Amino acid sequence: MQMSATAEATVEQVPDWERRVLEDIKIHCLSHGVRLTERAEQVLRAVQGDVLTLHEYPTTGGLTFELPHGVFVNAPFDEEYCVRAEVVVDAEGDDDLVLRLGDSEVPVVRQVLLPGYLGVVGSDAQPITEVVMSHGDRARLSPIDGCAYDCGFCDMADLPYVMYPANVLVEALAVAASDTRLPVRHALISGGSPRARHYDYFEEVVTAVVASTPLPVDLMMSPMVNNDGFLERVKAAGLADFSINVEIFAEAPALAALGMKYKTTRRHFARFVSRAVELTSGAGNGQTRSLIIAGLEEPQDTLAGVDFLAGLGCIPVLSPFRPAGGTGLTSRPPVPAATLRELLDRSRELVAGHGLRLGPDCLPCQHNTLNFPWDAA
Ligand code: SF4
Repeated sequence: MQMSATAEATVEQVPDWERRVLEDIKIHCLSHGVRLTERAEQVLRAVQGDVLTLHEYPTTGGLTFELPHGVFVNAPFDEEYCVRAEVVVDAEGDDDLVLRLGDSEVPVVRQVLLPGYLGVVGSDAQPITEVVMSHGDRARLSPIDGCAYDCGFCDMADLPYVMYPANVLVEALAVAASDTRLPVRHALISGGSPRARHYDYFEEVVTAVVASTPLPVDLMMSPMVNNDGFLERVKAAGLADFSINVEIFAEAPALAALGMKYKTTRRHFARFVSRAVELTSGAGNGQTRSLIIAGLEEPQDTLAGVDFLAGLGCIPVLSPFRPAGGTGLTSRPPVPAATLRELLDRSRELVAGHGLRLGPDCLPCQHNTLNFPWDAA
């Protein structure tokens, strides 16, 4: 089955067979990544240059493609497990890229580039990519290198703990916001998590960044302990959405992979998320999401977690586990495509039962998540 690159149907008009082809190809990309033909690699390098990706975060270290009907996918291609990838990236005709899976083929509408500010140095003499990186249409800011916690699937945990001043973050976001190679429409302040004694610093950074930009700014964070009023204060300062990630739901695998984070924050999770949902539930006020990793616990536990999150009024975001190099779980196998399909189908039913949907709604930000434009609001 082949699909046109110029199909202009609205999301509601996309036929079931096209949805199925796009879903299967993205699911396989999220599972074992892709293999590149020689010609595809030449085409990719001609557009992007010698550096095709940056491995600065486990779930973004791949090639990002826009496919028909607003489907985005981030596909690993240079990790060890990609030798077993079933999806092949090839180039046809006038160097048009396509993704092939068995008899199915979909055109690449757009190869999403790396940002244009790689190598730019800030006023503190550090590369600004120490604190900002754009993916799709979003600039991700990292106020802290390293982390208060030590999650096994994350490469932040082993970095020395360094806090960057607010002015460095503000300057870096301004550079990302003016980048014409990869324009951004929103920003996300993300991990590492601050130590409890640095909560004041973290709040100062969040409010300074929000005040500095007309872009909507979201915050991805762990539940805070003994810091009452934080959510209210940053929301009042103009923050848009919260992402408060449960990551692994069942106790034993959560304890094994999240360690200190689970022991410190889980008992506060439901109350913290519920308050964030209250603060973001008004019309136009944004939303609260929670990322749950597919592949680090039994599928029925992930589904129980999806149901739990939706029951709090929070939008679940399914994030397939990647055994990325440089993390503590590199030797673990990727999640089989059949498991991702089952999780997607059953999660859709569960969230619909709560009157919700799988997130995120932003289409470019769906590049590494298990959802599709027809899931979004
Ligand atoms: S809390 Fe977040 S940033 Fe810190 S180690 Fe865990 S996943 Fe990584």
